[in-house]
Amino acid sequence: MIKKLLFFACLIFSLLIGCKKDGSSTGPLQGKDDAAFTIYENSFLEGLWKLNPDWATSVGYHKYDSLLFVPDDKIRDKMVTFAKVQIDSLSRFEITQLSEGNRMDYHLMQNQMEQIEWSLQQQKAWQWDPSSYNVISTFAYILNEHYAPLSKRLRNFYQKMTNIPAYYKEAEKQLRNPVAELTSLAAEQHLGGVGIFEKDFADSLKKTNIPAAEQKLMLDRAKVSADAIRAYAAWLKALKNDKPRSFRLGKDLYESKFKYNIQSESTAQQIFNSAVERKKYLHREMAKISKKLWPKYFGSKAMPSDSLELIAKLIDTLSAKHAEPGDFQSAIEKQIPKLTAFVKSKDLVTLDPSKPLVVRKEPGYMAGVAGASMSSPGPYDKDGNSYFNVGSLAGWSSEKAESYLREYNNYTLQILCIHEAIPGHYVQLIYSNKAPSLIKSVFGNGAMVEGWAVYSEEMMLDNGFGGDEQPEMRLMWYKWHLRSVCNTILDYSVHTQNMQQQDAIKLLTREAFQQQAEAEGKWKRVSVSSVQLDSYYTGYREIMDLREAYKKKLGDKYKLKEFNEKFLSYGSTPVRYIKEAMMTVKTGGGSGNSGQ
Ligand code: ZN
Ligand code: ZN
Repeated sequence: MIKKLLFFACLIFSLLIGCKKDGSSTGPLQGKDDAAFTIYENSFLEGLWKLNPDWATSVGYHKYDSLLFVPDDKIRDKMVTFAKVQIDSLSRFEITQLSEGNRMDYHLMQNQMEQIEWSLQQQKAWQWDPSSYNVISTFAYILNEHYAPLSKRLRNFYQKMTNIPAYYKEAEKQLRNPVAELTSLAAEQHLGGVGIFEKDFADSLKKTNIPAAEQKLMLDRAKVSADAIRAYAAWLKALKNDKPRSFRLGKDLYESKFKYNIQSESTAQQIFNSAVERKKYLHREMAKISKKLWPKYFGSKAMPSDSLELIAKLIDTLSAKHAEPGDFQSAIEKQIPKLTAFVKSKDLVTLDPSKPLVVRKEPGYMAGVAGASMSSPGPYDKDGNSYFNVGSLAGWSSEKAESYLREYNNYTLQILCIHEAIPGHYVQLIYSNKAPSLIKSVFGNGAMVEGWAVYSEEMMLDNGFGGDEQPEMRLMWYKWHLRSVCNTILDYSVHTQNMQQQDAIKLLTREAFQQQAEAEGKWKRVSVSSVQLDSYYTGYREIMDLREAYKKKLGDKYKLKEFNEKFLSYGSTPVRYIKEAMMTVKTGGGSGNSGQ
């Protein structure tokens, strides 16, 4: 007991000055206890939020909402020191003595701290990525999320604005030969988001009874802030940049970033190779289905001899079945009860009726990001609603709307709803919020989350989803799935193998059957991001491999629903650690450890 208390005191202290590793009171004995680990986790998170107020706000921890740190060398040094201290503190625990859940937390915390060190000291995006400096999304969050009374949120908003001019002055000082693509992206994002300070903040103030004199001060500061944001955008646009860094990350940084972000057992190169094979397999299967379906849609008309052309023709024909622009949201709303009923009738996974899903028009401040997305309650706000945000097509040209609706046609619209909602993201994140660990929610693994959504699409199809149009549904799913597969091929090829724009567009349009506009949008995305596009296919691959191994292990006792629920019960943990837990037998009968 005393030892635990000492340990705790040391940890609190260590956040301030660092704790000597070989201090007399801190032997290996102290790490053997899950209770001590839990105490440590709490102080770890508290320390993390204190150094990262914006991150804290975004996960629903609002103690530091009023703070904005100037992104200078000092704060980066503090962050690196924090990471080193935590890696050291973690090393005091004997991981094998911890519970299964805490072992996963341990891995996640260690990975996160190593990633922070790596990104600040090796990747150094703070030198070359102007879009890494952006205060707007946190301010938008404070303004738009109803977690506290409006006047309280606005006062925090006001306090937090204090440092905005200093923040952007420092950003200008830190940037050296930034990536040109990221420079224009940052300028665009800042000009696009400045309305929060110029208009939305003032509109919200009117709804409060904050005294007029105080409101005046608040509005003045919002003006100064907006000016600073516009000045940053102008500075970026005027920047003389003769030797910009390439937007391609490069092989070494890429492998490291993949290791920390994706947390796969495989390397990026291995996943790339697997995706290339997967693409070949999908093309073979798609050609088979297309040959079978041809007479149904084209009668006796001659089939194209080129199989990619044949597939493209069928996809094109099937895409013509789609909703009207005004009915897009209601078409999505209608899917939800159907999917719920299907999941229940096939007994795929237990759904929690106490956490309803609300389909809503995409809120203005999110507009333009994606056609459809999920907003789920954060780890500190588990009782919040889950929203399925649907972008409105109002004001679109008829060509643009048509192209979009063909992309989200009657087939793929159903797949979209599986992916985003049931049993995809919405279901997974409800399970995730039930996992009794903040660490797993806060450091949620994107590859596991996206992988589950992709996996759930195929699982629905394998269980007969699609009714009497199953071949059509399967063909359209393969097309949809090719997007995930080609995301990986594209990202890796562009960032490590110098793939050129025209080859990228050819890959996406000819081999993944995408519209020109979609392919161009993807090129833009791959030139301002890296590794994130790998998460879909990597997570999917790992879950499928795990399920195969699990099936083999359980033999007759294997049940799909049991696999799904067990898999989801660990929270948004990297698949490799879920695998470690699921493949270790712990039956009461004592059948021992089957290993692997
Ligand atoms: Zn049409
Ligand atoms: Zn997704």
